[in-house]
Amino acid sequence: GDVGQLFSIDESLKELAQLADTAGLKVVGSTYQKLASPNPRTYIGSGKVAEIKSAIHALGIETVIFDDELSAGQLRNLEKSFGGDVRVCDRTALILDIFNQRAATHEASLQVALAQMEYQLPRLTKMWTHLERQAGGQVKGMGEKQIEVDKRILRTQIGVLRKELESVRMHRKQYRSRRFSVPVPVVSLVGYTNAGKSTLLNQLTGAEVLAEDRLFATLDPTTRRVQMKNGNEFLLTDTVGFIQKLPTMLVAAFRATLEEISESSLLVHVVDISHPLAEQQIEAVDKVLSELDVSSIPKLMVWNKVDKVSDPQHIRLEAEKRGDVVCVSALSGDGLDEFCNAVQGKLKDSMVWVEALIP
Ligand code: GDP
Repeated sequence: GDVGQLFSIDESLKELAQLADTAGLKVVGSTYQKLASPNPRTYIGSGKVAEIKSAIHALGIETVIFDDELSAGQLRNLEKSFGGDVRVCDRTALILDIFNQRAATHEASLQVALAQMEYQLPRLTKMWTHLERQAGGQVKGMGEKQIEVDKRILRTQIGVLRKELESVRMHRKQYRSRRFSVPVPVVSLVGYTNAGKSTLLNQLTGAEVLAEDRLFATLDPTTRRVQMKNGNEFLLTDTVGFIQKLPTMLVAAFRATLEEISESSLLVHVVDISHPLAEQQIEAVDKVLSELDVSSIPKLMVWNKVDKVSDPQHIRLEAEKRGDVVCVSALSGDGLDEFCNAVQGKLKDSMVWVEALIP
């Protein structure tokens, strides 16, 4: 596929395997093929289809996941080639599955449902022409009409969902403004999934937030109260994590979950500094943040998993050079006092701002 530009095929497939794991699947292997252009019927070439088919029989494989989006026709042809019981899906459908499993709030559920319908809409056409062909052409034209009817129904449902989502968001805003009448600063954690955001949250608060080596362990914003040694406190909010190759159609839905951070007192950008693509991930997060209305909010970067890097001394020097970076190990608790002090310092700066604004 077209993954060669920013992320290597290996990195992309590794992330896909993590996603599959998150969805509760056991990954037994992966393969890829270099083609000038994807096969319009089966995405991969016929040789590769045969190779995967024999692996399916040898290993008892139940699901085959493709890293790029497949058309409805390709999905159907692949399922036919692999045999009846094998489920074929693409990255987008897999992510939608995970979002569906993890959607804990009404708002998240609505967003997932919306994305699922938008995913289905362009795939309706081929499904119906397929049925038409199965019926031996006797119902010619019927399929076409049915597509139009179905598309209209789906578009109406999409419209209804959009409205409902808007109203849910309005109510959340009201809830938020009530929360903000309490003079406790809100600190939001942002960053890639697996960066260690929930581990950090747990270490700081002892709250029971799902932390596991899985993507999207934290789909919905989760807020906890952190009490520092000096008695001061702040609210710490976890946000949905980024992924390297988020399908375009899911971007809007999941950027919406980040809207809440525009009302924070401080943004903490958590980075897995042991990750080979840490630098690219930092840039990607910064890019999204620059597109949200958060430029006036102070920021602090946390380089997490320093226990995992080969040369921690070098990392600490880099962090010092860069400034506004705290090195921690959320797992061992190393550096968490420094982290709290840095948060305190940043919040003090922003409190001065708040006081200056109040006449
Ligand atoms: P999130 O998706 O950003 O919330 O990440 P999690 O908190 O779920 O962490 C993802 C994985 O990284 C888990 O397996 C954690 O145990 C692991 N992890 C988190 N922090 C550290 C750390 O400081 N060091 C190491 N070695 N692993 C960590």
